[in-house]
Amino acid sequence: MTPIGDRKAQLLTRLSDLRDRLVKIETELDSHTTQDWDDLATEREEDEVLEGMGLSGQQEIRQIEAALHRIETGEYGFCAKCGAAIGEERLDVLPQTPFCRDCAK
Ligand SMILES: [Zn+2]
Repeated sequence: MTPIGDRKAQLLTRLSDLRDRLVKIETELDSHTTQDWDDLATEREEDEVLEGMGLSGQQEIRQIEAALHRIETGEYGFCAKCGAAIGEERLDVLPQTPFCRDCAK
């Protein structure tokens, strides 16, 4: 059994990594201000990729924040749907998940 403090540290590390990444994405998007038509087309494509990364990052941040909240309330590690304990190996891979393997399907 992984101590809850370790889980929390793992989630907090992941959270700060994601926030750093989002700041970098924002900075990159802001730097795209070229008026050159050829460059503009390339930058538009890059922007779409970056925005997609930003959106999935924001979603993961919200999931991690929710998981941290569940740690505070003592609900962490139990499925939000059926109440079963979530397997250790599953939490190792997806520490922010609120669902057990069966309910996540
Ligand atoms: Zn479940």
